[in-house]
Amino acid sequence: MAKHQLSLGFVAAAAVGMLLLAATVTVVMAADADPIYDFCVGNLTSPIILNGLVCVNPATVNGETFVFKGFETAGNTSNSLGSAVTPAFAGVNYPALNTQGLALARLDYAPAGLVPPHTHPRATEVIYLVKGELLVGFVDTSDVFYPAHIKTGDVFVFPRGLVHFQYNIGTTPAFAIAVLNSQNPGVQIIASALFSIEDVVLSKAFGIPVSEVESIKKGSGA
Ligand code: MN
Repeated sequence: MAKHQLSLGFVAAAAVGMLLLAATVTVVMAADADPIYDFCVGNLTSPIILNGLVCVNPATVNGETFVFKGFETAGNTSNSLGSAVTPAFAGVNYPALNTQGLALARLDYAPAGLVPPHTHPRATEVIYLVKGELLVGFVDTSDVFYPAHIKTGDVFVFPRGLVHFQYNIGTTPAFAIAVLNSQNPGVQIIASALFSIEDVVLSKAFGIPVSEVESIKKGSGA
């Protein structure tokens, strides 16, 4: 009898352990909160702020509500970086993505165009290179750099939260479609974020005079 009780206790403890493990794994793997409706097309004009957008009345939507048409034309790459990001974001121009845990973008690159080093704190990013040749890469938390040369039709994944970039090494314009697993991935451009910090702090961090920090700041657009 005692042995039977012990084994029952062990089974119960193991079951609780498995539940805790499952809960932990679920939390670690989740990007955005799970939806509780089939869909929740976002109301872009609601003044209410919550973790996502307020839903419009589902009776007011139809199939066309779920279509996004902003990717047919190239973004304007006539800027100092030679690149353009055209978003399809729930909170900007594609409210049908609200609560679906996804954001999209069309990325255009002039020859030598750069999407500069940046991070998305809330999302993994996958790009599909529709046309062109890019040098892409990211840096892991041990400062190991992972570069790759990708060509038309290739896919590349930038792991969640890591610093990454894309650079057009071809002789023609290039473009890609990006998919991110958060409806609000967030973006921090490293140069402008870093050089928002006090000169004296950056001087000490880089081991260079304040005058050099100021010189870099002028060029970084910060
Ligand atoms: Mn990115």
